[in-house]
Amino acid sequence: MGRIITIESKTGGCLCGAVRFETVGKPARVSICHCRYCQLRTGTAFGIGVYFNSEQVTFNYGATDTYSYETENGSTTELLRCAKCGTTVSWTISPGALRHMLAVAGATFDPPTFWYDVEREVFTRSKAEFCQISVPESYNESPIYNPVRRDNGRLKGGG
Ligand SMILES: [Zn+2]
Ligand SMILES: [Zn+2]
Repeated sequence: MGRIITIESKTGGCLCGAVRFETVGKPARVSICHCRYCQLRTGTAFGIGVYFNSEQVTFNYGATDTYSYETENGSTTELLRCAKCGTTVSWTISPGALRHMLAVAGATFDPPTFWYDVEREVFTRSKAEFCQISVPESYNESPIYNPVRRDNGRLKGGG
C-alpha cells in the first residue's frame, strides 16, 4: 500500500465566473494591506494578498487583462483582472522580495472563502478608523517598505 499524500487544493475566480484559478498547498504569506493603492484598486478599505509561489497557482486564462502601476517602493504591481467583470483575481510585484510570488486576491476563493490564516496587516498608516483587525503582526508601513519616492495627495500612505 502506497502512502496517500493529500495536497490541499482550492479554487476560486472572478464575479462573473469567466476567470477561474486553482491553488495547491499552503500560501507562503497572507497579508491584509491598508495602503492607498489597495484601497483604490479594490474600491474598499483594504486588500487581502494570499501569496503563493507562482507554480502553486494555475489559471484557466479566460479573458483577462492587466493593469500595472509603480509604487513608492520603486516596484511595479501588475494586476490580473477579468476583462469582463473587472474583478482583480491576482497580482505580482517586482522587483523586490515578492518577485517570485503570485498573490491571489483573498476574497476570490470559493466558499469557504477565508480558509487561510492572516499573518500580518501592513500600511496601517492609511487604515480606515472602523477596521478592527486582529492579526499577529501589524505594521504602520511594511517590513519590506523601502521607498524610492513619496506619493502625495490621494496616493499618500501608499506602498
Ligand atoms: Zn469575470
Ligand atoms: Zn496595498
